[in-house]
Amino acid sequence: MNTTLWTVDSTGDLSTNYPQITQAAQLLQHNETVAFPTETVYGLGANAKSTDAVAKIYEAKGRPSDNPLIVHIADTEQLKEFAKIDSAQAETLMEQFWPGPLTLVLPCKEGVLSTRVTAGLDTVAVRMPDHPVALELIKRAGVPVAAPSANISGKPSPTKAEHVVHDLNGRIAGIVDGGPTGVGVESTVVSCTGGIPVILRPGGVTKEQLEQAVGPVMIDQGITDEKKAPISPGMKYTHYAPEAPLAIVKGSSEDIQRLIEQYQKDGMKVGVLTTEERAGAYQADAVRICGTRDRLETVAAGLYDALRSFDGEDLGFIFAESFPEEGVGRAIMNRLLKAAGHRVIEA
Ligand code: AMP
Ligand code: MG
Repeated sequence: MNTTLWTVDSTGDLSTNYPQITQAAQLLQHNETVAFPTETVYGLGANAKSTDAVAKIYEAKGRPSDNPLIVHIADTEQLKEFAKIDSAQAETLMEQFWPGPLTLVLPCKEGVLSTRVTAGLDTVAVRMPDHPVALELIKRAGVPVAAPSANISGKPSPTKAEHVVHDLNGRIAGIVDGGPTGVGVESTVVSCTGGIPVILRPGGVTKEQLEQAVGPVMIDQGITDEKKAPISPGMKYTHYAPEAPLAIVKGSSEDIQRLIEQYQKDGMKVGVLTTEERAGAYQADAVRICGTRDRLETVAAGLYDALRSFDGEDLGFIFAESFPEEGVGRAIMNRLLKAAGHRVIEA
């Protein structure tokens, strides 16, 4: 398949002209798949009403069919067609965080969306992205757009169009390049079907921010305890993994440097994932910086690019620093733990 690549300057006035966005929207209307930027990561979109279209997402990504997709909308009117909003908390969260990196799991109305979107569940995950290109594309397509991250399943999510090209060129109809994404980790997924809201996946909106808006919020134990089954089907799969095995080290940079040398002694090439503050402390075969520790949002923004950049370095092992599990640090550690297959070294 020939993949069309369009470049769009996201800072322009997108409501005028921009034939690239119209062309991409037309592909969506014709039940083809198009990758586009959002404020979190690049998404791979398709018409959520068409089983034909949605099947192409699973096919291109190699995504397990029991892992449901998030439906992206451009206005709340669109939502009423396929979801029920019968909780005051859901309304408050929508008002406060949309457009933005928050996905709400709501009761689903029957017969509107393809059942492949929800993987047969009676709930649907929805969000309104805070990115001018995404919003304009969805608006012009005129349909709800199902969109998981635009990567091959299991790989780190794409935060630049070149990541999408690397994984999916020739497998999808088009890619809209709107520059690097901002948040860098995926949306927070919150179940809002009555009772206390439950975080099914930590992400761009923090637990602290949610609690300020609606009071107590729970975290699904399945995402913090390896032995419990997560509520969200997608959270059980390995994800975000670079080619070389990775371990998170809870310890100082001296501890990590000692581990690097130990592994190198066996003739292995070793990488390290670090931050601005500590990068100078390492002598490794590949040193990658993902941001600065005193602003964890920069770590989130740089994490997947750094993880991807280890590939092709012929490394035998990668050590990653660990991060405090508060604010967006929860999402960072959740993704790192999955990338590491839960390997943690307490130094
Ligand atoms: P992705 O689109 O790859 O960022 O992943 C979407 C996440 O949302 C996955 O972890 C899915 O399992 C989760 N998800 C989507 N729909 C639902 C739903 N109806 N109930 C629970 N989790 C969902
Ligand atoms: Mg994904």
